[in-house]
Amino acid sequence: MQHKKQGLLLVVSGPAGVGKGTIDSALIARNPSIKMSVSATTRKPRPGEVDGVHYFFKTEEEFRRMIDEDDFLEYMHVFHQNFYGTPRSFVEKELNEGHHVILEIDVQGAFKVKEAFPEAVLIFIAPPSMEILKERLIGRGTETPEDIERRFATASSEVIAMNHYDYVVINEQIEIGVSQMESIITAELCRVARNKKMIANLIGGND
Ligand code: 5GP
Repeated sequence: MQHKKQGLLLVVSGPAGVGKGTIDSALIARNPSIKMSVSATTRKPRPGEVDGVHYFFKTEEEFRRMIDEDDFLEYMHVFHQNFYGTPRSFVEKELNEGHHVILEIDVQGAFKVKEAFPEAVLIFIAPPSMEILKERLIGRGTETPEDIERRFATASSEVIAMNHYDYVVINEQIEIGVSQMESIITAELCRVARNKKMIANLIGGND
């Protein structure tokens, strides 16, 4: 059986309202072989969110059972109220099939993934400014004023964590953001460390 080259594990974080979902969706629309991991959460669906598409919506009991069964690559208790987690089986299957997989998760989750998978690529989507971020968060109109304040406070601490990421993409214009993501993928695929087999073959003269 031919062994396929593993896909890239792309971990995308950024403050709520920064537009990471928009960039990721546009990236996947242009590159259908990139797959989006769907997280599980105990948060209630927002208007328009669909179970199995945006999240797998779970009760706390169901979520805790999944933790016990080691179903998560990583999970997190975010904002002191809801659980969020990355189901392991989908990610492992897609990577083994050679597809790139995007995890859209918070910064703590991203660091856990990097610890477990050092080859994961951490990409931070940043706003052009914190003022613009707040305007976008309010403009979204899906959260209560308290939620907005809490998410904005979280955003400020997340932006500091950006220092530990591999790449930063400023979301000023979607098109530019998407092409920067494509450039990151291209660069990562060209890394010597990811091409050891091909290099060994070249050096060994096996073309
Ligand atoms: P939201 O409630 O706005 O959909 O997401 C809140 C935060 O949870 C965001 O920062 C989002 O990236 C993060 N998040 C979503 N899914 C996961 C996950 O599976 N694991 C972790 N650690 N964070 C997640």
